[in-house]
Amino acid sequence: MTINFTELANLGVQQLQPYQPGKPVSELERELGISGIVKLASNENPLPLPASVQESIQDEIAELARYPDANGYYLKSALAENLGVKPEQITLGNGSNDVLDMVARTFVSPEHEIIFSEHAFVVYPIVTRTIGATAVVTKAREWGHDLSAMAEAITDKTRLIFIANPNNPTGTALAYEELKAFMHKVPPSVLVVVDEAYYEYVAHEWSSMVEQLVNYPNLVVTRTFSKAYGLAGLRVGYSVSNPEIAGLLNRIRQPFNNNNLALATAQAVLKDSQFLQDALTVNREGMQTLTKKCDALGLTYIPSKGNFLTIDFKKNAQPVNDALLRSGVIVRPIANYGMPNHLRVSIGLEQENEKFMNQLPKALTHL
Ligand SMILES: *Cc1c(COP(=O)(O)O)cnc(C)c1O
Repeated sequence: MTINFTELANLGVQQLQPYQPGKPVSELERELGISGIVKLASNENPLPLPASVQESIQDEIAELARYPDANGYYLKSALAENLGVKPEQITLGNGSNDVLDMVARTFVSPEHEIIFSEHAFVVYPIVTRTIGATAVVTKAREWGHDLSAMAEAITDKTRLIFIANPNNPTGTALAYEELKAFMHKVPPSVLVVVDEAYYEYVAHEWSSMVEQLVNYPNLVVTRTFSKAYGLAGLRVGYSVSNPEIAGLLNRIRQPFNNNNLALATAQAVLKDSQFLQDALTVNREGMQTLTKKCDALGLTYIPSKGNFLTIDFKKNAQPVNDALLRSGVIVRPIANYGMPNHLRVSIGLEQENEKFMNQLPKALTHL
């Protein structure tokens, strides 16, 4: 007897497509049989990890036979001190995606609605469907979140709102004052997750919503070590919330969701403020070069507050993506975000950006 296991999966899972990651360099190398491939597809920090951070990994290797500290005591303490909050407000995740999932699974049941914007981070629809809850997707405004539309979409069934600020894949951002005004309109029983994965890139302009936790117990702010802090491969993210919410998340958290290397390395990288500054400088300079190149080529892009630039090719961008791949440059198609005419390009090192810019004119001839 053959069993159709897809029919046995819960309804939400039946409707899901797996997350599409950026194409790995090794995969394209195998396909094309070439080397020197540049990957600008996953918004990673392009700098090599500083020696001090690499040493902390070396030191931790001897400890790998042991389970990690399930409570992440030292990392939470360091984060709490940096953020001016209490350690019991912090929940560590295996990447911030893990925390986004925990918040949804803790508070949302199939009869509830989760609000997020069109063109917002793809993990929000994934976690919503997994639970079997209803996704309420508001229209974007100039590619960004329309907070008025989001406030108007709230019903008795709304349990959670996801806001990415800055947003991926559009690079749009909402000013602190706008978010504050939004929080004022949200009923206190509706949780608002402000996903600050790219906060470090706007920190010189705006306060973090962490500052508003004292005023809004229904606010959860998430952050990650995957972007400006350069540890995408280690998977460390966290949320800051009121202690009661953190306690509830802790009930469903997998006990050892951060491994020994991840905990030790995140602590080490937090101490290296120069590394963060360098990452921000490389990003600012790369962003300038890339936007200038687009201007020169007459290409439109969405002004970005993140570490990536989303370029509008005005018609289906797949041929440009394919041509770039053939020339050894991996960028990110975002048709799955409802943006088939755009490609998202992460800001890399100078020579990586250069390779992209050199290959771009030829790729454009395939449009
Ligand atoms: C990259 C990203 C994250 C971070 O994911 P991790 O699981 O921490 O690697 C979260 N939110 C957004 C909007 C992102 O782009």
